[in-house]
Amino acid sequence: MAFELPALPYAHDALEPHIDAQTMEIHHGKHHAGYTSKLNAAIDGTDLANQSIEDILANVSKHGGGVRNNGGGFYNHSLFWSVMGPNGGGKPSGDLASAIDGTFGSFEKFKDEFANAAATRFGSGWAWLIVDGEGNLKVTSSPNQDNPLMDVAEVKGTPIMGLDVWEHAYYLKYQNRRPDYIEAFFNVINWDEVAKNYAAAK
Ligand code: MN
Repeated sequence: MAFELPALPYAHDALEPHIDAQTMEIHHGKHHAGYTSKLNAAIDGTDLANQSIEDILANVSKHGGGVRNNGGGFYNHSLFWSVMGPNGGGKPSGDLASAIDGTFGSFEKFKDEFANAAATRFGSGWAWLIVDGEGNLKVTSSPNQDNPLMDVAEVKGTPIMGLDVWEHAYYLKYQNRRPDYIEAFFNVINWDEVAKNYAAAK
């Protein structure tokens, strides 16, 4: 069974002015669509075609580079769209807020650590908030389209929020100003969705 490009859960211009409509159109309609079709081409006719994306990524070292890059790209962007929204921003509440305060000291300290991970990831990659094997929150980053579900990841866990720091995610609006894009991301984070991911992962 082939993987399907998930529909964006909001309009292309819904994240304006923080993330512009043209970037969203190209990012979802070209980049994410490309990862999805190339993943399907890479697994077509193999027994991976019957596995979940999580299972494929958990053993990605056994598969070719096409599965690693495009399987990661398929999964990462699907998560990315879902943790943003037009009514986003602010701070988390409930269990997730308590866990962030307990782990990082405060929301502001968490934000600094996440923003630093995103800003210092050299070249293309992702910043993550994950739940590790002990149920603890952790901030990490990964290169290219890798992610913490992969057996090759330096830091493993279940991603509950991810930020794409490839230039294709921000160049049209922010050019080389990645820190401005990272700050803008915090204005569109859908914390309710991240809290759901946290409850499911811990
Ligand atoms: Mn991307």
